[in-house]
Amino acid sequence: MAKECPHLNQIQAVTAHTPQGCEECLAMGDSWVHLRLCLICGHVGCCDSSKNKHATKHFHTTNHPIIQSFQPGEDWRWCYVDEMMV
Ligand SMILES: [Zn+2]
Ligand SMILES: [Zn+2]
Ligand SMILES: [Zn+2]
Repeated sequence: MAKECPHLNQIQAVTAHTPQGCEECLAMGDSWVHLRLCLICGHVGCCDSSKNKHATKHFHTTNHPIIQSFQPGEDWRWCYVDEMMV
């Protein structure tokens, strides 16, 4: 039986805090590879291919489970808790 993500109801109509890039990398003056948008609070963080992995760190800090790709033309979503596309 296919597993379902119980976290979808936590998704909010968020606006990206920092549409120009990763919030922490911008503050540090660092660079990133790809961007991920937290669908619970609007935090923008960098992906796991980036050296700082701020999107994953944001999940560990806040327990916000679901991110969406913030790359143009990409709209997939990922649940960190279930470790699957949602
Ligand atoms: Zn989930
Ligand atoms: Zn970053
Ligand atoms: Zn968040």
